[in-house]
Amino acid sequence: MHFPTDYDSIIQRIEAIQPVKYASTRNYLNGHVTYLSPYISRGVISLQQIANHVLQQYQPIQIEKFLQELAWRAYWQSVWRNLGENIFTDIKQPQQQVSHRQMILALEQADTEIDIVDKCIEDLYETGYMHNHMRMYVSSIACNVARVHWNQPSKWMYYHLLDGDLASNSLSWQWVAGCFSSKKYYCNQENINRYTNTNQTETYLDNSYEAIGQMQIPEVLKATCKNNLQTELPKTDAPHLNESMPTLVYNSYNLDPTWHANIEANRILLLEPTHFKKYPISDKVLQFIIDLSKNIPQIQVYVGEFESLQQLNNTQLIFKKHPAFSHYDGVAENSNDLFANINGNFNSFFSFWKKCDKELKQF
Ligand SMILES: Cc1cc2nc3c(=O)[nH]c(=O)nc-3n(C[C@H](O)[C@H](O)[C@H](O)COP(=O)(O)OP(=O)(O)OC[C@H]3O[C@@H](n4cnc5c(N)ncnc54)[C@H](O)[C@@H]3O)c2cc1C
Repeated sequence: MHFPTDYDSIIQRIEAIQPVKYASTRNYLNGHVTYLSPYISRGVISLQQIANHVLQQYQPIQIEKFLQELAWRAYWQSVWRNLGENIFTDIKQPQQQVSHRQMILALEQADTEIDIVDKCIEDLYETGYMHNHMRMYVSSIACNVARVHWNQPSKWMYYHLLDGDLASNSLSWQWVAGCFSSKKYYCNQENINRYTNTNQTETYLDNSYEAIGQMQIPEVLKATCKNNLQTELPKTDAPHLNESMPTLVYNSYNLDPTWHANIEANRILLLEPTHFKKYPISDKVLQFIIDLSKNIPQIQVYVGEFESLQQLNNTQLIFKKHPAFSHYDGVAENSNDLFANINGNFNSFFSFWKKCDKELKQF
């Protein structure tokens, strides 16, 4: 799968959504998924924009499954807004039966002995994308078969994903590991074969869910390694700031070319070394972010901390509110995205979805 970065191609991808076929095929590796997440996560397009498009053609009831998946993303964002950095610790209950807290060598080397999983890890390295069901298989093998704590493998996956989103990633890993759900998610070879159109047999997953839940850790999953995840940021000069214009701050989660597109402004893509030290991304992901920023006319890339930008700039900085950048100081604009106004602490997705459903009926 290829992820173009020019805005026209991204809009064409929205127009190609098949929300009805989506419901029956989304769990299959070759199903009608949208491949939009890299653009949603990077804030190039919004859930609202996607919903507007599909709801011009369908009633909510006809495309409920699709809307529900958009709501999952909104739900994880709302949990992030509520819990802040606590999303990086076990939320509802500690992960059970943890054997260690390291990275698994077999995952890193795409050598788990489950052929299609290995192939999808190699594809992740090459394309920056992995299908949702594959992400569930990988995280289940890591947390529930190799019994590793979710934290290190989730960092590894986040590093390589073009759509890397700290909330969707950490909270999905926690969901699979049984820290944000009532039970662990298990997969077996039969299920993998069915959804990936493969026919591998006689693997450690070629068994019932009950047996997999009770088996010893397979030899191939025992070796560990250190996650060596670093982001090599480019060197940049101080940006040229025209003092008569406001300054808009973009970042790796806001690359929206339509944001204040009709005003004259200094536009800065701020890449903060402290952020990427804490949450590293690969060269491929960094390049994707920089390429997406080229949709924003006259944008300047600045590698530095928010405070340094503040010192260079004489007026207030304007930015979109985001839980990853709560240290920004200036004019914080609220998101007007789909479901962003559904506030509160929702203990489960389905309590959140009930509110979304109401909102959709008024659409
Ligand atoms: C272990 C694990 C890690 C994940 N890490 C991330 C991540 O870092 N960033 C990320 O954006 N998503 C993550 N997801 C969620 C999901 O896998 C991706 O959003 C989805 O695969 C993206 O592909 P798509 O755009 O083709 O999705 P589609 O199926 O076409 O869905 C349309 C949109 O709905 C949203 N969506 C769909 N499924 C989910 C879901 N299960 N959870 C949240 N939102 C969803 C996404 O924004 C997606 O772009 C993760 C899931 C798992 C199980």
